[in-house]
Amino acid sequence: MYCKNCGANLDNQAVVCPYCGVATDNLYAVPVEEAKKEGNGMALAGFICSFFVPLLGWIFGGIGLSRAKKREGKGKGFSIAALVIASVMFFVYLGQYV
Ligand SMILES: [Zn+2]
Repeated sequence: MYCKNCGANLDNQAVVCPYCGVATDNLYAVPVEEAKKEGNGMALAGFICSFFVPLLGWIFGGIGLSRAKKREGKGKGFSIAALVIASVMFFVYLGQYV
């Protein structure tokens, strides 16, 4: 890959450009192999939380969905389910108080 700032040819694993010191995308990206092992706990957490605390379901589901994109779709189903269930539960809870 090439440095976004100075265009130097960098190692694909480099987190910082050795020539100009600017951070590469690797600094923010979770290494792929690590991500695969880690799975997508956020998606599962969101799925579980969505039943009880819709707000947390949305937050974790949203994070899980963005992580799923980096993890070959791992946890995507749970993330979407979390967002859908959180929305449904939100209106269920809302209905109880109105
Ligand atoms: Zn550079």
